Amino acid sequence: MPEESWTVLKLLQWTTDYFQRNNVPEPRTSSEVLLAHVLAEDRLFLYLNYDRPMEGSELAAYRACIKRRLEGEPNQYITGLQEFWSLPFRVSPDVLIPRPETEVLVEAVLEFLDKADSDLDILDLGTGSGAIAIALARELPAARIVATDLSMAALDLAQENARSHQVDERIFLVRADMFAALPGDSQKFKAVVTNPPYVSDAEMLELPREIRDFEPHHALEGGPDGLAAIRHIIAVAPTVLSQAGALCMEMGAGQAESVSGLVLESQEYRNFHIRKDYSGLDRVLVAIKK
Ligand code: GLN
Repeated sequence: MPEESWTVLKLLQWTTDYFQRNNVPEPRTSSEVLLAHVLAEDRLFLYLNYDRPMEGSELAAYRACIKRRLEGEPNQYITGLQEFWSLPFRVSPDVLIPRPETEVLVEAVLEFLDKADSDLDILDLGTGSGAIAIALARELPAARIVATDLSMAALDLAQENARSHQVDERIFLVRADMFAALPGDSQKFKAVVTNPPYVSDAEMLELPREIRDFEPHHALEGGPDGLAAIRHIIAVAPTVLSQAGALCMEMGAGQAESVSGLVLESQEYRNFHIRKDYSGLDRVLVAIKK
C-alpha cells in the first residue's frame, strides 16, 4: 500500500484491485468486510463514509488484515465472526466456519420436531461454534440441547455464543467424542443432529487452501471414503434416539447413495429421506428410528 492520504473509497478500490491481481476470491467483498472490521463498523458505514480519511493506526491494522487474507486465511477467522441463521457467531480456527448449506440441516430438524412440544431433548454431535444448537434453541423455546465436542476450545466458544444469544441455560455442553460420554440406552433424544466430518482423504487434497490450511481437520476428515464418522453415527444414534426420533445429519454432495445403504443396512430406521441444499446437492439425511 503506497504512502499517501487514503480515504475509505480510495482504500477499497486499491485493495479490491490488489486482491484481484493476487487471485483472492470475491475481492471487493473481502476488502469491505475487512475494512469494516478494522473500523469496528458495518459495511453500510463504508458506503456512507467514502470520503472519510484513514488514520495511520487504522491503515496499519488494515494492512495486517490484507496480509493475512493474502496468505489464504478466511475473512471469518480474521474478523472472528460469521453469520448463521441470521445470527452473528464468534468463530476461531478451533471451529469450522458455519456454512450456509448447514441451514438446510436446521430447517430439516425444525420441520420434523413439533414446536409446541414441551418436552424436547436434542443431541448435537460435534457442535463446534454451537451454530446448529443455538439456532435450534432460538427456534424451539422449550428444547433442551446436549451439544458435544472433542475440543475444549470449541466448547468455550460455543458457550460464549450460547450466552450472547441467551440460550445458554438450555444448552448443555459436554466434552466427548461423538456419543462416548452419553449414558447408553437412555433413548431420550427426539432428534440427533450433526454436521460430522465427511471429507474423504482424496477430497482433502483438493480443498481450497482457505479450508485445507486453516480450518480444523478433525471437523473435516471422514477417513479414506469420507464415511468413517457417518458410519458410526448411523449405527449408534438409534441407541440414544426415542422411538420415532430422527437422526438429522449433514453429508457430502456425493454421499447420498452410500448413506442410504448404511441406513437400510442398520435395520433400525423405519424410513428416511434426503434433502437437497440450495445448490441442488444432496445434503441432509433425515432417518426416523423404528
Ligand atoms: N462442507 C464442508 C466443506 O466445505 C465440509 C464440512 C464437513 O466435513 N462437515 O468442505
